[in-house]
Amino acid sequence: PVRVRFCPSPTGNPHVGLIRTALFNWAYARHTGGTLVFRIEDTDAARDSEESYEQLLDSLRWLGLDWDEGPGAGGPHAPYRQSQRMEIYADIAHRLLESGHAYPCYCTAQELEERRERAREEGRPSGYDGTCRDLTPEQIAAYEAEGRSHVVRFRMPDEPITFTDMVRGEVTFQPENVTDYGILRATGAPLYTLVNPVDDALMEITHVLRGEDLLSSTPRQIALYRALIELGVAKEVPEFAHLPYVMGEGNKKLSKRDPQSSLNLYRERGFLPEGLLNYLALLGWSLAEDRDIFSLDEMVAAFDVHDVNANPARFDLKKCEAINATHLRELPAKDFTAACAPWLRAPYAPWPEENFSQAAFEELAPLAQTRLTVLSDITANVDFLFLDEPVEDEKSWQKAMKEGADALLRTARARLEAADWTSADALKEAVLAAGEEHGLKLGKAQAPVRVAVTGRTVGLPLFESLQVLGKERTLARVDAALA
Ligand code: GLU
Repeated sequence: PVRVRFCPSPTGNPHVGLIRTALFNWAYARHTGGTLVFRIEDTDAARDSEESYEQLLDSLRWLGLDWDEGPGAGGPHAPYRQSQRMEIYADIAHRLLESGHAYPCYCTAQELEERRERAREEGRPSGYDGTCRDLTPEQIAAYEAEGRSHVVRFRMPDEPITFTDMVRGEVTFQPENVTDYGILRATGAPLYTLVNPVDDALMEITHVLRGEDLLSSTPRQIALYRALIELGVAKEVPEFAHLPYVMGEGNKKLSKRDPQSSLNLYRERGFLPEGLLNYLALLGWSLAEDRDIFSLDEMVAAFDVHDVNANPARFDLKKCEAINATHLRELPAKDFTAACAPWLRAPYAPWPEENFSQAAFEELAPLAQTRLTVLSDITANVDFLFLDEPVEDEKSWQKAMKEGADALLRTARARLEAADWTSADALKEAVLAAGEEHGLKLGKAQAPVRVAVTGRTVGLPLFESLQVLGKERTLARVDAALA
């Protein structure tokens, strides 16, 4: 049975690259009927935070990516936070030392740097040069007597390491490029290089799906895995899939600092989880050549990690928005109105709470549903209904209230006053006729009316909006604009 894991470090805000990794692991687990383990890699006390941990959990829950083992879910390999597993790592490091798979290294940072520098100058590979690989007990005692501290290094085999990546095919690393590496700091604290494969082994992970940036650590992990198998700690080396890089602006890797990469941003703008996840799925995968839009269920039914494309994916915010808009349009009407709710309240809504009317909102909701890109757009689309006075948007006024606008507004007011307010078409006829009197087409005639009533040049279809606002308030706003 497939066992995959999502194992972020709780540093900073969750970003979309991380979520893409979570999504692919989740989809693979669900597609195969396997298990998704959620593990928290929080062994770096200096960078990890509790707040970031809580945010990760909250983000995954919001997205609906559920896990089978991990925080809140428990499981046979608990605890799932690495900060609570320190004894396990100490024990395994000890066994690796005892069996000769690892050794103490007394090189100081300065010595290492000098030798690296020299290797670079001479055009040799600059990884660890093996100085402490085979220290005698006497040499060790001498270093200890000097008062030197030591890290613990894993002894890499002298042969190439080859594996078949599920995305990239066969990959080979030469030994000179993958040298002995630290697994414990001088303080005894375990490093990512140790805890990540150790937990993958103990948690019986069968498939490791993660970002391409970790590809270079894979030969080290495979070598460590082989040692763990010898020690009886691991059963089998897992399969690996390295998901393609996500490129942002200017064809540079999308970085954590890139504002486009922050998951919170999408949440605050009112993306639907299914819209955002649909887009993130396309970063390396597709359901079918001609299908950009799909549900999570459809993704789960079809997802095979072997189909992931190795080429870098380009993050395209416009496309992400368009896909979200499509998902918004496809919501059942009552789900759409429910989804809008947070944006119709403080702190998003600028109107006094008591002005809000669910009934009035629901009259306009169907018109909004086909036009929104993100849910937060709803606020500006309906604020004219609930504010005592329309917003003042200077640009809109300048654009629409040109010479002749007053005269047009006066005529339109008279005609609107006489119109049949039970029909949006009748209101349109009224403004159309007012326009004709002044030699203006509907578009030009409608603009000052819209700005007088809603404050903006763009918005929902005008005549339905006027109807919902009502005759009295509409005319009062035209009067106010004329005053
Ligand atoms: N904690 C690691 C990270 O967030 C996990 C890497 C992995 O998936 O192996 O980069």
